[in-house]
Amino acid sequence: MTRYIFVTGGVVSSLGKGIAAASIGRMLKSRGFSVSVLKLDPYLNVDPGTMSPYQHGEVFVTIDGSETDLDLGHYERFIDVELTSLSNVTAGQIYTEIIGKERSGIYLGGTIQIIPHVTDAIKGHIKALAEQSGADVILVEVGGTVGDIEGQPFLEAIRQVRSDVGRDNTFYIHVTLLPFLGSTKELKTKPTQHSVQALRSMGIHPDAIIGRADHEVEQDVKDKIARFCDVRPENVFGLPTLDSVYKVPLYLEEQGVGETVSEALRLPKNEPNLAYWKHIAEIEDEDEDPLRIAVVGKYVELHDSYLSVAEALRHAGFHHGRKVEIEWISSEEIQESGPDRLLANAAGILVPGGFGHRGVEGMIAAATYARENRIPYLGLCLGMQVMVIEYARNVLGLPEANSLELDADSPDPVINIMEGQEGLVDTGGTMRLGQYPCLLRESTRAREAYGVELVQERHRHRYEYNNDYRIRLEEAGLVASGVAPDDSLVEITEVFDHPFMLGSQFHPEFASRPENAHPLFREFVRAACETPREGEQYELPASEKAGESGSNEFGLRSLVSAEE
Ligand code: GLN
Repeated sequence: MTRYIFVTGGVVSSLGKGIAAASIGRMLKSRGFSVSVLKLDPYLNVDPGTMSPYQHGEVFVTIDGSETDLDLGHYERFIDVELTSLSNVTAGQIYTEIIGKERSGIYLGGTIQIIPHVTDAIKGHIKALAEQSGADVILVEVGGTVGDIEGQPFLEAIRQVRSDVGRDNTFYIHVTLLPFLGSTKELKTKPTQHSVQALRSMGIHPDAIIGRADHEVEQDVKDKIARFCDVRPENVFGLPTLDSVYKVPLYLEEQGVGETVSEALRLPKNEPNLAYWKHIAEIEDEDEDPLRIAVVGKYVELHDSYLSVAEALRHAGFHHGRKVEIEWISSEEIQESGPDRLLANAAGILVPGGFGHRGVEGMIAAATYARENRIPYLGLCLGMQVMVIEYARNVLGLPEANSLELDADSPDPVINIMEGQEGLVDTGGTMRLGQYPCLLRESTRAREAYGVELVQERHRHRYEYNNDYRIRLEEAGLVASGVAPDDSLVEITEVFDHPFMLGSQFHPEFASRPENAHPLFREFVRAACETPREGEQYELPASEKAGESGSNEFGLRSLVSAEE
């Protein structure tokens, strides 16, 4: 029998509801239960693929190529699952589906209504995930905040699930904000009371409340919430803002959330194993000399646009026992004032993905700086394209080399538009998306890092390396170390004579896990750890060797051996 946990949000958005839900998923997974996740997004866009990073942060790409909410990234990382298009449903998708059926006459002349047609469609998606994943527990997070007009059909749908599958198989958690009033120095519960009232008016009586706050939530505050919201006192939890998201599962576990949820759902009483999570929390606390990595992009003031990149860097840090501190550097600023001052402190330079020409010259300057100063460089998607342009301009001597995306008239388009992408009018869901195989050439850094010959990686792009320049670039020292199995596309390039300068056309960041850093991030950070700094050299633990696979001391399998 599948169990369902529903997570709703109250008072304000951006509460970290996704992190709280992902942490609950981790607590259950650590007890040996299988968990899958569904994020319901009540907005009318079909997917976030066409939304501005300012609106939505990162677009997370699943293995099957759907462009989804960034919370799916938290879920994959915290629970260590691979999700698919079944795990993110928007109102745009539901309405497109229903209107399509109406136009083709499937409803036989009936009136189409929110209840039952829209709610049934939403429940259909929940059921489909339960059936296809076969998971013990399905976590369903409703995006937005209780009270949003577009959220109502979603709340009604999750309300109905309780009568469909039974009280014992469902658990409703409401995550709200407890604001702190500076004048009286107290956390206020009234907004939570109102939010729960609104939820109850929709027929959902929460089983537990998690109060988010910038301070510790004391017992008297919890008692008050319990009394006013009619929730058992032991089911009211506080979650203060912690300095690392990886501490949230431990914090909530200590509060008893895992036990409460498993008991309510009548799951076997298994002990959770969170040893690795304790270990990484210690790394985050103890390293007084963090490793500085510069991330050079155009949306750096908005860290959420590069969320998976930042997390993958931290995972690589965990692997090497180092805390990674990211210096967010605006590529436009490099364009204006040059790279020397801005990149002087960086042990490694990462250029992430992006679209459009703004700031790209600054990224190219960062790549030149990394190559000339032998600073480890990792380029992801656009960051790989930038690396190729830089090499063509400054090593091959083609000063006008560029990507056709950035200069349609470049005489040397070393990055050109992919076959089939030319002249596409629709922008939604039309890029090269999802997982594709990549063959790794022997005796390259990429091959050494992965330790296997064939890997699958996730893509999201329209442009690609231009094979017309391949022989010349390779002869000049830019090696095509990863290619599509039929050799038609270059997927990884690396500078032969450099401590670590590698770019991938795909996005390895989506596959990285805290327990299992992605091999390319792991080796990039290893090289950064080894970058000599003024007067000192950081020494790696002797046990760590390049390309290492198998289990680590926590018995966790490595990404590489999992693919074998
Ligand atoms: N804009 C580039 C392309 O479409 C890179 C995309 C990306 O970085 N995700 O190919």
